[in-house]
Amino acid sequence: MPAAPKPTNETERLASLRRMLLLSSPAEEMLDCVTRSAHRMVGEPFALITLVDENRQWFKSRVGLDAGETPRDLSFCAYAILGEEMLVVPDAREDARFADNALVLGPPFLRSYAGMPLKNAEGHSIGTLCLSGVEPRAFTAADLQAIRDLARLAEMALENRRLGETQMQLLAELDEARRDALMCTLAQVWNRRGFEALYAREAAKCAREGTPLALVAIDIDRFKAINDTHGHGVGDRVIRMLADILRGSTRGHDIIARVGGEEFLLLMPGIALEETERVGAKLVQAVRDAGLIPLGPDAAEPRRFTISLGILSIDPQAAPGARDLALARADEALYAAKHGGRDRAVLAEPVGEPVPAAE
Ligand code: GH3
Ligand code: MG
Ligand code: MG
Repeated sequence: MPAAPKPTNETERLASLRRMLLLSSPAEEMLDCVTRSAHRMVGEPFALITLVDENRQWFKSRVGLDAGETPRDLSFCAYAILGEEMLVVPDAREDARFADNALVLGPPFLRSYAGMPLKNAEGHSIGTLCLSGVEPRAFTAADLQAIRDLARLAEMALENRRLGETQMQLLAELDEARRDALMCTLAQVWNRRGFEALYAREAAKCAREGTPLALVAIDIDRFKAINDTHGHGVGDRVIRMLADILRGSTRGHDIIARVGGEEFLLLMPGIALEETERVGAKLVQAVRDAGLIPLGPDAAEPRRFTISLGILSIDPQAAPGARDLALARADEALYAAKHGGRDRAVLAEPVGEPVPAAE
């Protein structure tokens, strides 16, 4: 079957989508709230916020799917954005547009689909909020209303993003391919190179504005045993889940990066020395509360994972030149947390003169 025709205003639509700085950007909490809610309310295994790019559809938020993007030729959403209303496909095998689609005939063997076009402020359909599954499905009126309502919330969140100024500036400076090189697709966060680019910008901004800065080094406890016991796929999902928990426990202007297998760094502008202990303990507790190893519905009993972390405060005046010293101290504290029994936060010696919290 042919791929979806291009919308009549495709050139303007793509330009408008690009101006939003959404493609190849980190996951954002409000949009993940929408896909998680859609997944729970409608009960389909896949819930996505897709952006229909020139040759790919790229997932800004995804529940249930490991891939970060798929070719546009195979995209159901490329059809959905042609109309004003929701595209509903109860059984893809019975629909001439999708019956021989590679995602229907092969993994993940899609059968059901409901995708509501998402419009931006300039009136262009940039992608969809869509739900999809591997069984034929007669979507009810209540299902469709839930998807419509959540699509409106997604549109609002897309126009009111909480990513900090530094991250938005970096996105604005780079095209999609260069942004992709700074991102970790699995966890939908920055990678080490992204962290380094953002550290330089954030440290300079904090020095200019006199804002304190906190650095956190995080490592999953006994992660090798999780891989060995439950398999690499479950390990990967734990990494993704940790990224989700960190995102839910921080603010939009905090920078989250995956810098090694199961190692993350957080850069938190505005967190002063006297707040670091509380922030470190809060992150450890958040993982204690929500860190369930995803073993599927057949698992006998839930198993949890924990993290250890090292945290320190960086003097804004010292921050621009202090990256490697700060990283070394955070790592030392992380090592001490492991040595002290894991599942805990250890405070490292601050870098430079400590800055008191704003009154
Ligand atoms: P500790 O509490 O001391 O941190 O113990 P640990 O088992 O977490 O530490 P270790 O460094 O020995 O193990 C890290 C493991 O992470 C080893 C490697 O197999 C696994 N790993 C590295 N990258 C990935 C990845 O991308 N996905 C998965 N599933 N596993 C990975
Ligand atoms: Mg490690
Ligand atoms: Mg580890």
